[in-house]
Amino acid sequence: MRHMKSPALIAAGLAAVLFASPAAAATGSPGAPGVGDSYYPLDGNGGYDATHYDIRLNYDPATDHLSGTTTILARTTQDLSEFNLDFLLKVSSVRVDNVAADFHTAGGELTVTPKAVLPKDRDLTIVVRYDDTPEPYRLYGYAGWQKTPTGALGVNEPQIAPWWYPSNDHPRDKATFDVSIAVPPGVEALSNGVLVNKQQTSPRWVRWNWRSTRPQAPYLTFLAIGQYDVRQGTAPDGQTLITAYGDDLGDNGPAARASVERTPEVLDVLSRYFGPYPFEAQGGVVDSSLGFALENQTRPVYDGAFFRAGTNTSVVAHENAHQWFGDSVSVDDWKEIWLNEGFATYAEYLWSDYQGEGTPAEVAQFTYDNIPADDPFWQVLPGDPGEQNQFADAVYDRGGMTLQALRTAVGDDAFFRIVKQWPQDKQYGTGTTTEFVALAEKVSGKQLDDLFTTWLYTPGKPAVGPNGQSAA
Ligand code: ZN
Repeated sequence: MRHMKSPALIAAGLAAVLFASPAAAATGSPGAPGVGDSYYPLDGNGGYDATHYDIRLNYDPATDHLSGTTTILARTTQDLSEFNLDFLLKVSSVRVDNVAADFHTAGGELTVTPKAVLPKDRDLTIVVRYDDTPEPYRLYGYAGWQKTPTGALGVNEPQIAPWWYPSNDHPRDKATFDVSIAVPPGVEALSNGVLVNKQQTSPRWVRWNWRSTRPQAPYLTFLAIGQYDVRQGTAPDGQTLITAYGDDLGDNGPAARASVERTPEVLDVLSRYFGPYPFEAQGGVVDSSLGFALENQTRPVYDGAFFRAGTNTSVVAHENAHQWFGDSVSVDDWKEIWLNEGFATYAEYLWSDYQGEGTPAEVAQFTYDNIPADDPFWQVLPGDPGEQNQFADAVYDRGGMTLQALRTAVGDDAFFRIVKQWPQDKQYGTGTTTEFVALAEKVSGKQLDDLFTTWLYTPGKPAVGPNGQSAA
């Protein structure tokens, strides 16, 4: 039904054919339902670019009930008869440029059919209104949204947006964000960037307005709702610093604070290696329910268990390194996740060095020496680990060792020029492994195909370790 053209469009199309007039736009075609990612083919969509999301929601932790409106500013990239957004929840209406559009949702795709074909290079205002409970939904078989004892977490990778706002959900299409979330009085609601307003608007609702003004991938936009001790301050460089600690962290609470409060110091140390911090705010959220840590733009979220043995500034260095590698320079295809995790792991080595706890050469060598050649670890290829192994240890640790092997091959001077040049060249965009290897070769003047083939794409333990010594 939705593919059928109205008589008016058929007439216009006929006129276009008969008179070869520029009104040929009336015969636009549907945008692709995905951008063609190797692991997640339906992520993202074709036919338009999103430039800004304004997400305005109410959330009630007692019922997991989420309702509101997302307004998307976008621009068409083709004559468009129909387009998709990535979204799981029940939608009540969609308007395109203020005109009600037809729509339907299936399998995480919201298909929108505007009343008339949208010509190429046209600015669009898309308004999606919805009302649902996110928790039960699954995408690629997994649960993204987590209901917690006092609220909810919209924090996940590679996908989380479809559980709470409609988007063009791929790192290739970044946008700026305003996130406004109303919660009952006494509940905290955290997101990215700067808290631009917080206001009680009725006896039942307090609205928190967050703004993130640098290009941001949809999956890095987060919500953390619940009972938190929120600390608002200013970092030494003048940026907004907002940290939040779950009320239920118990004995992990002090170590969590002793780690995450050092975020400005971590960013300062990392910026010496990677260049200026690319965003306008900083901080962190520690929650007891997450089960992992994630580098949400300007404000990572950490599970409280990271701090169960005392301070863990390594994970703070890891997530904040992702602000450069992952958030500012994102993967162009999810199969190249090592570009995020390998660099974040290498940043842990650099932080270890700064702390006086071991140099990158020592830490990488220790990792290499301690994983026997017959360990399944060496069978996962960091350069293309497979969807199931996207966050396998090899992506992190063999990725980090790959960078140490690169440092050994090109020398310190070239190595540190490469790791500063990459986030500068690709700032707020995406990059590929091929492009990274090309940059490393250009800066060092060395042929590096063999090194990357061995470390990223060849099963088995490399015979020569990350510092150039043969395995014992
Ligand atoms: Zn990571």
